[in-house]
Amino acid sequence: MKEVETSRSGAAFIAISDWILQQGGSVYGAGYTDHFRVVHKRATTREERDEFKGSKYVQSDMGKVFRQVKQDLRNGMIVLFSGTPCQTSGLNAYIGKKLCKNLYLVDIVCHGVPAPYLWRDYLSYLEKKQGAKICWVNFRDKQEFGWRAHKETFKFIKRARKMSFTFLFYQHIMFRNSCGKCHFTNIQRPSDITIADFWGIEKVDPNINSDDKGVSLILINTEKGQKLFEAIQHDLNTIPATLDKCLQPNLKHPTIIHPQRMDFERDYKKYGFSYVMKKYGNNDRRHKLKSTIKKIKNKIKRIIHIN
Ligand SMILES: Cc1cc2nc3c(=O)[nH]c(=O)nc-3n(C[C@H](O)[C@H](O)[C@H](O)COP(=O)(O)OP(=O)(O)OC[C@H]3O[C@@H](n4cnc5c(N)ncnc54)[C@H](O)[C@@H]3O)c2cc1C
Ligand code: SF4
Repeated sequence: MKEVETSRSGAAFIAISDWILQQGGSVYGAGYTDHFRVVHKRATTREERDEFKGSKYVQSDMGKVFRQVKQDLRNGMIVLFSGTPCQTSGLNAYIGKKLCKNLYLVDIVCHGVPAPYLWRDYLSYLEKKQGAKICWVNFRDKQEFGWRAHKETFKFIKRARKMSFTFLFYQHIMFRNSCGKCHFTNIQRPSDITIADFWGIEKVDPNINSDDKGVSLILINTEKGQKLFEAIQHDLNTIPATLDKCLQPNLKHPTIIHPQRMDFERDYKKYGFSYVMKKYGNNDRRHKLKSTIKKIKNKIKRIIHIN
């Protein structure tokens, strides 16, 4: 089965997890530990769950979470697990048919993840540059920059102003090699519900995103997912859509690995993070700058030629 719905950004995961918590269930998702290390965690209250809101665009460490999920299910609890499709698929295989009745799986459309040590090194690099420790991070500050912008935003201790960067995390150069061969970049989903950004929403409804707060895509993949969606639908402002309108690249094929991906890895291993940051960071901006300079040079040449 496949149903397609839309809702305002951020609302779907909250509504689904609220419902699970109301049933006395547990919710698993990506949060932080230590110094912003991304890990999967268990929540049984809304406060604990709130840490899972917002995408962390880096590989999350599963730790003992699969075993915890199994224990919750053995104890008769309803469980919601949210994560990348490779994680939900792995969990499903681990849990098996006997225990899966009360397990709800929610995945995201996924373009790929960098390894955790790159995120760790990026934070150290920024702290060294700014001469201050980071005390708050947001991989994508939709409040400040709107839905379409992808900027990592940070607060540093004793600094009033937030600082934002669009360096390496949205360049595909850091993705794991396996993400370039991902089996889950299609509409055969390994989860009951899939959520994503609804890129191309203007083709479905030109007005729904007039405030640029974003629109989520919700794919309902199983009967269980349908029942879950029916239970929460009244909490969401949804409109139905069709599959052909929502087929973004990562629902059609894996992300194409950056041509310099292997050079990046080799340089990182040999020279460390600061070196690759200088060499490959801002690649996109450098590229744009180069092509702007080229255009200006061409214009000047044409003007000189005419005269
Ligand atoms: C690594 C990654 C790649 C993505 N790629 C795409 C893409 O190509 N196209 C697209 O439309 N959307 C992508 N998304 C999803 C998108 O960023 C939004 O999460 C989605 O639109 C739902 O938004 P939301 O605000 O409703 O939920 P959000 O509040 O963003 O959170 C949704 C769920 O994502 C989970 N999550 C957050 N970070 C991670 C992580 N590192 N690993 C596993 N689970 C995590 C949380 O547990 C939470 O349950 C990606 C997300 C991640 C984490
Ligand atoms: S792109 Fe595929 S393999 Fe990579 S993290 Fe996402 S789901 Fe997993």
